[in-house]
Amino acid sequence: MTVAILALQGAFLEHGQMLDRLGADHFEIRQKKDLEQEFDALILPGGESTVMRKLLKELDLYDTIKKKIEDGMPVFGTCAGLILLAEEVEDGSSCLGTMDIKAKRNAYGRQLGSFHTEQEMKGLGTIPMTFIRAPYIAEVGEKAEVLAEVDGRIVAARQGNQLATAFHPELDNDVSVHRYFLNMI
Ligand code: GLN
Repeated sequence: MTVAILALQGAFLEHGQMLDRLGADHFEIRQKKDLEQEFDALILPGGESTVMRKLLKELDLYDTIKKKIEDGMPVFGTCAGLILLAEEVEDGSSCLGTMDIKAKRNAYGRQLGSFHTEQEMKGLGTIPMTFIRAPYIAEVGEKAEVLAEVDGRIVAARQGNQLATAFHPELDNDVSVHRYFLNMI
C-alpha cells in the first residue's frame, strides 16, 4: 500500500513521519509527473488552501486528483486539505469540491487562531487535536457523517472514501487518525 502526500506547500513532512511510524509506504506529489506513480490513497496537508488551490491548477494536478477522488480513491484532508475537499467554502473559494460539506475558513478568529484540546472522535476515543488558523465544518450534507465536534462545531467528517479533519493529527504524537485512514484503504 502506497500513500501519496501532496507536497506543494504546508505541513506535508509530518504526515510522512506518521506513515513511517505505521509502516506505510509513501511519496510526495510535487509536480504532474509524480502522479504517474501508482498510489492507493492521498493526503492533502494543512497549509494555505488558497496557495494550494492556485498551484494545483497551475501545475495541472487538479483534474487528475479530482477524478481519482471521484473514482473512490481514499483521501485524507487536514485543515487546508479539508477546505480543498469541501463542496462549498463560505468565502466562495471552493477547490476540488468532492465532499458534501460546507467549510468556514479561519473560523475561530484571530485570538483563538491556534489552540490545543483533547476530544472524542467517533470510533477512536479521546484524541489530541491541534488547531492552527483552522476551518470548521459549518454544514454537513446528507452524504457525509460527523466524526468529531469541539464546542458544538464539527471538526471531523467522513464521506465514503473521504476523511477530513479541521485539526492537525500529524502534529501530535497520537497515530490513531492516520491508522483510521489507512484502514479505509
Ligand atoms: N487558514 C488556512 C486556510 O484557510 C488553513 C490553516 C491550516 O491549514 N493550518 O487555508
